[in-house]
Parts: sequence; C-alpha cells; structure tokens
Amino acid sequence: MANQAGQGKHVIIIGDGHAGVAAAVRLTDMGYRVTVVESNVHVGQSTSGQATDASQHTLMRMCTNQTDLYRRLGVIRDIDWHKTLYFTGSDGLIDELTGDDLPAPFHLTRGLIAMKRFKWKEKLAIFSGFLAALQVSRAAREQLSNENFRHWLNSIHQDERIIDKFWSPIIAGACNQLPEQISASYGLRILQEGFLLSNTSYQLGFSKMSRAEFYKRAEEVVTKGGGAVLHRVSADRFDYDVDSKRVTGVHLTDGQTLSADAYVTALPHLRLEDLASESMKQADTRLARLTEIEDVPILGIHLYFNAPQGHDTMRRSHLIFTDGCVRWAFAKGVEQGGEYDGLHHIHVVMANADDYDEMPDEQIIQAAVADMRKAMPGITNAVTLNTAHVVREKRAASSPRPGGKRYRPYPSGEIDNLFVAGDWASTGWPTSREGAVRSGYRAASALHEYCTQGDPVKNVNNLLIPDVKPSALYVAMSG
Ligand SMILES: Cc1cc2nc3c(=O)[nH]c(=O)nc-3n(C[C@H](O)[C@H](O)[C@H](O)COP(=O)(O)OP(=O)(O)OC[C@H]3O[C@@H](n4cnc5c(N)ncnc54)[C@H](O)[C@@H]3O)c2cc1C
Repeated sequence: MANQAGQGKHVIIIGDGHAGVAAAVRLTDMGYRVTVVESNVHVGQSTSGQATDASQHTLMRMCTNQTDLYRRLGVIRDIDWHKTLYFTGSDGLIDELTGDDLPAPFHLTRGLIAMKRFKWKEKLAIFSGFLAALQVSRAAREQLSNENFRHWLNSIHQDERIIDKFWSPIIAGACNQLPEQISASYGLRILQEGFLLSNTSYQLGFSKMSRAEFYKRAEEVVTKGGGAVLHRVSADRFDYDVDSKRVTGVHLTDGQTLSADAYVTALPHLRLEDLASESMKQADTRLARLTEIEDVPILGIHLYFNAPQGHDTMRRSHLIFTDGCVRWAFAKGVEQGGEYDGLHHIHVVMANADDYDEMPDEQIIQAAVADMRKAMPGITNAVTLNTAHVVREKRAASSPRPGGKRYRPYPSGEIDNLFVAGDWASTGWPTSREGAVRSGYRAASALHEYCTQGDPVKNVNNLLIPDVKPSALYVAMSG
C-alpha cells in the first residue's frame, strides 16, 4: 500500500533523467503529487543533444540504488549480468578475470593468478595494492579527496606498468578518467566496494532495456499517483521571493507558470546555472558555484564490419584494453534489418577523449581499428570495416577530479523549498547513473523531511539503499 506521508503535497521536478525519475518515483510512493517537467522530445536524452543510449550503458553489482530503482520500475530483468571481466591488449592476449567462492576479499585471487599478461612479481604487487586499499578506513578515504589516485597508488609502491595496465583500465571503466585525473577517495571507493567487499559486487551489468520502456514505466508510476509528466517543455525561470527565501513558481517555455509546495531540480549543472536568478545565487551557496564544476568528454565509436557468414567477430560481451587508444569494446551483435543489416556492430569507447578534440573522425576511426586488429582475435583480415560513426560527448560527465567534491551541492540549502539532484551533486559517487539515482533519493529524503518538519540535513540519507554488505572476512581485515 502506498505510504501517504506526503499527504498529496505538490512537488515539481525539473528534468527527467535518472536523478529526476528517482526522486519522482520515491516521492510518488510517499504520497506526493508530482509534476515532472522535461524539455526533450525523447525524454531522458542528454542535453548535449545526443541520445545517451547511443552508448553502451554499464553498471556494477555495487550500484545498489540504481538496481533498486530498476526493481521498482519492473525493468531489473533487462540487465544482463556478467561474472567475467575480459582483458586484452596490443599483445593479443585475452585474460579472463572471474570471481569464485572464496570469501571476499579473496574471491578474485585465483582469477588474478591466472592472468597471463602479468608476471608473478606484478601479480603480487596487485595483491598488495588491493590489501593496501582494504586497510583504508572510510574516514581516511574521505580525507584523501584532494589527492589524485595515481599519487596514492605510487605511495603504496605500484609501478607505472601496473598502474597503466591494470589499475587504469579498471578505474577508467568505472569513472571514465585515469587514476591521475580522479580523486583518491573515488578510486578507493571503487576498489573497496567494487572489488573487495563482496563476491559479486565487481560483476558487470549491461542494460538491454530500451530507454522508452524505462521512461514509460516511470511515467506510469507518477500518473498512477495523481501526478503528471510534461514533455517537450522546458523550465525557463523561477519565481523567487527574496523575503521568505522561497521559490514560489516556475515559468515554462509554453507560457504556463506552475507552483508547488516544493521543487526539485534534476538538471545538468549548467542548465541550473542558467535558470537560477542572481538573487537566488546570492541567497543560496549551492547555486553560487555551479560553474566551478568541470565536465569531461566521452568519445565513442560505433563500428560496423563486413564479416564472412558465421564468423565470430567478437565472441565476448566486452573487452577491456590494457593499452592503446581504445579503452573498452562492447559486442552489439549482428544487425538484423535496416540500414546495417548483416553487419557486425561493435561499440568502442576511446581512452583519453580530450586528446581527440582536433582530430578528424576518419583518423580516430583508423586508430581505433588498428588497435582492435592487434587486440581482438576476431578482427581478422577477412573482416573489413563497412562504416563507422564517431559520437563526441563534450560534456558527458562532471569530472571526479581531486578537490572537486567541495563544489558538489547538498540536496537542501538556504532556499529551503528547493532541492538539488543530478549526477554532479554531492553523493560520494563519481558521475554515473548510480550517482544520479542516489542524488534523486537524497533530494526526495530531504524534501520529505522539509515537508514533515523533520531535519533535511540529518535525515538526507533516509531513502538511500545501503551499500553492498561486506563479507565477515572483509570486516575483520579492513581498516
Ligand atoms: C556517452 C555516455 C556514456 C555513459 N555511460 C555510462 C555508463 O556506462 N554507466 C553509467 O552509470 N553512466 C554512464 N553515463 C553517465 C550517465 O548517463 C549520467 O550520469 C546520468 O544519465 C545522468 O543523469 P541525470 O539525471 O543526472 O542527468 P540527465 O540524464 O542529463 O537528465 C537531465 C534532464 O534534464 C532535462 N532538461 C535540461 N534542461 C531542462 C529544462 N530547462 N527544463 C526541463 N528539462 C530540462 C534534460 O533533457 C535531461 O533529460 C554516460 C554518459 C554519456 C554521455
């Protein structure tokens, strides 16, 4: 039975990405009447204009809040989980890293020992790196937020080859950035929660779900609760009352003005910067430093190959590259029907996307295919490139850089009926769908506390799903 704590109070949520959907679903569930405002024709499309599912979307089992949201929407079965991580490189060696039944944190030990590309001495160094990560307490981890992760890896005597060939591909997969570009606190969190504390948290999930289905389910939840989702209309500006320090309405581009008891913005940070007036920025520290948040690009390529009938171009679901310009490759299968009928589709994500700003698409494609020929046994001479599309996302994610945490706003602040969500908000997570969902749940918790005279700061995590439970051995061994 639906919880009626919200007592039909009206909430406006601006932005219908994962953060907005997360807040809408939880608030509707608590009895709030929610109106979602989304500017895109295809809801959930990133504001840069590229459909976000033009890319492969992955998650790990450690993403407890994202999987909770998918469960609530009935789409969790559309995630394909994989127990093996596949590594390759210019040496053409394929390594398979699979967890087993040994208790965490030792579940990947046998898999690591079996990796062919590392010498014994290097494997021992990797183990000692994992053990060092295990010793860092949560409090100590947070104190490292201004340090870069490569620096921390150097401090525990990881040599450059191991950082480049092992830690970098793992970290770049989770954060889209290299160890030297990210805060040590994020790097450690990924190692601890993703690879050490439970047997399954490292497992990769690939979404088969269509974006349309996800948003349709979310809209059904909202409308069933008496709310509405308005598409193809943008929030243009807020009405803000300086004396009471409250938002009193939001103007939409179709001429309507909506008002509510409380407002959630689940917008990209620069859209919120456009929307917030100078008086709002002066009143609320969360809105004053939105331009300080840096964004980083993602560069993906969709490659379509001609291959002999029955040829296995990419046997594995994914490949993690330990060197070269490609970072990850994802098998998308043989296209059935349409323009690319019969072509073998592989999606790759390039490493160091910043390096390709000036490079023409043709050159980027050539570099990627050259790397793939060395690293992927299925890309034989009999396999030829038919066509390829480069997708450049200049502002794909906010940077998980050292020191960046201080600019990430809390859900509640001085304007007490305005709540902030978005993958760039303060969640302790690097930019990701998990981070976006956590931000939406935190905004919903804070808003609910505000509406029920509770404490939005103290109880901000009330609706969060707990992190993966650590094994008893992990608890005994950890810092
Ligand atoms: C190429 C690419 C690959 C990625 N791969 C992964 C991955 O594998 N795994 C992963 O976890 N994450 C991945 N991400 C990141 C992930 O997609 C984002 O972190 C997440 O979708 C952000 O959700 P959000 O709700 O915070 O923001 P958004 O999804 O950007 O939602 C904001 C919404 O606000 C709307 N909007 C903007 N302005 C207005 C306005 N004025 N009025 C009304 N609505 C407005 C937008 O249309 C948009 O729908 C990837 C991102 C990109 C770009």
